[in-house]
Amino acid sequence: MERPLTQHITFPPLGLRQYEAVGGYQAVRKAVRHMEPKDVTALVKEANMRGRGGAGFSTGMKWSFVPMDVPGPKYLVANADEMEPGTFKDRWLLEGNPHQLIEGMIVSAYAIQATESFVFLRWAYKQAAVEIRKAIAEAYDAGYLGKNILGTDYSLEMHLHTGVGRYMCGEETALLNSLEGKRATPRAKPPFPQVSGLFGRPTIVNNVETLSYIPHIVNHGVAWFQSLSRTADGGTKIYGVSGRVNKPGAWELPMGVTMRELIEEHAGGMQNGYRFRGVLPGGASTDFLVEEHMDVQMDFTGVAAAGSRLGTGTMVVLDDRTCPVGFVHNLEHFFSQESCGFCTPCREGLPWTEKLLWAIEQGKGREEDLALLASHATLLGPGNTFCALAPGAMEPLQSALKYFKEDFEQHIKHKKCPYHD
Ligand code: NAD
Repeated sequence: MERPLTQHITFPPLGLRQYEAVGGYQAVRKAVRHMEPKDVTALVKEANMRGRGGAGFSTGMKWSFVPMDVPGPKYLVANADEMEPGTFKDRWLLEGNPHQLIEGMIVSAYAIQATESFVFLRWAYKQAAVEIRKAIAEAYDAGYLGKNILGTDYSLEMHLHTGVGRYMCGEETALLNSLEGKRATPRAKPPFPQVSGLFGRPTIVNNVETLSYIPHIVNHGVAWFQSLSRTADGGTKIYGVSGRVNKPGAWELPMGVTMRELIEEHAGGMQNGYRFRGVLPGGASTDFLVEEHMDVQMDFTGVAAAGSRLGTGTMVVLDDRTCPVGFVHNLEHFFSQESCGFCTPCREGLPWTEKLLWAIEQGKGREEDLALLASHATLLGPGNTFCALAPGAMEPLQSALKYFKEDFEQHIKHKKCPYHD
């Protein structure tokens, strides 16, 4: 099985010459010397590369929204602010093969004719910062960055920017505000960043895994990319599993592997003494799936049809000895702390949700709290808040109320958590 994204991951990562020796920077050579920018975009669009940050928006389509005839600077940003709970896929790419990301950024920047690019890196990823800084310097020395790349007319600058340790900075418009030195609150969309982004200029923000894939698509083409996948969403994908499984970890696998394969084969099944109860398929801001969904194909379409989202593709498993109320409370505590406070439903609603869950977990819940929590899931849901933070936070809650309602009721009836006798 081919694993284009991860096959050259090493710790420490390959230096520039070693990366070149395994075919690195061929895609830059091919793109800037032999392809028109619009042809790179068309290729990525045709491949049906769907963004790996969580939303699954078509990457090529996103690039195609950049107005190419507008004079002045354009920007490309790698969103490396990976902070979704349970998600550690981009860290693997950042620390293990930074040149692959840089190459992907150069090719992507060329496609939209960006003049400047940024890696917006999660504050806590200290080792990644060391590796990326080193790799950017090597790429400048070798002529892949800076003025007249490989002797062509195309020039690109690249900067590493470390974030401030806030979940909110991963939302693309809050990220752009942060990069401008402003408070990291989201902006209204539209206008989307493709038209008006960093400093009001056309800007593309893509996830690390998405950008790291671009050189492989340019080198090997659409048919190859689609052949890697089991479904219409092309390519391979980095999946992860955490929780009470025997071998938690992350693996690059064909898009569309089933949840059963991931949990039972790759993660080695549940640990002795623990039974599977449910899973958040794509980080914390997705709906629970349960036993009946074990054979769901893990691509954007398959997981959505099952009532959740692929999200980041890195799952968190809930076992039968962990209290679902406590589990969801823990998540809502995180989301509540990470709310930027900009819009009222999120700022006020998340702490209230957390408080209700904590009361139930402590045996102080009231029967009417369940209806109240369900109404929060709507009031903080899609369309009622400025960005996706609160709606994402409601996904584990609303699905826990659906699949684990009895657990909530037992807490209220017996005035204690049944998992903590
Ligand atoms: P979104 O669907 O609004 O946007 C996704 C991308 O598509 C953006 O770049 C946006 O500009 C573009 N887009 C969407 N609609 C468009 C349109 N009509 N015209 C032009 N461009 C358009 O999602 P989002 O709010 O950016 O992100 C939410 C996702 O982020 C969730 O799926 C969640 O799983 C994920 N997430 C990931 C992490 C992480 O650490 N990787 C953390 C939090 C959330």
